[in-house]
Amino acid sequence: MSLNIRCDEGVMSLAIYNETLNNKLVEVANKTGANVKSVEWIIYEAEKKVDLFNCSTPIRVTRYGEEYGFMPLGTQQAWISTRAIREATLVSGHFSNLSCFKEKSDILADIIIDELVHVETQKDHGTKEYDELHDSYCRKFYGSVQTVQEAKT
Ligand SMILES: [Zn+2]
Repeated sequence: MSLNIRCDEGVMSLAIYNETLNNKLVEVANKTGANVKSVEWIIYEAEKKVDLFNCSTPIRVTRYGEEYGFMPLGTQQAWISTRAIREATLVSGHFSNLSCFKEKSDILADIIIDELVHVETQKDHGTKEYDELHDSYCRKFYGSVQTVQEAKT
């Protein structure tokens, strides 16, 4: 699968970031049927968020926070931070100790799905379009409705 992945300025273009993101995108695409090819995936440093927030385009932030991922409204871009990718590669990151993330087994997939739904619907959390597509993808990826409900808290 040929995917559109690039690193933002200032990101050391480590092959591991590209490879980890690429592999997870393929997994999400295979399970959900989502068109991950139509999205431009950009890897950024979370520490640069101040610069990013100075741009005039409104953004939709992943529920994990802007240090993990966001998409500029009206674009086909999904920004995934190096932090999100790094934490996805940890066997037991600090997130596993937080009760709200206990049910989550796959932070990177969760962020990818969130961004995908924002790009496809151009809508924010809480809208009918966003919630329905998000639930659909989560159900297909995680294989249960229960996980979807817990993931929304
Ligand atoms: Zn979101």
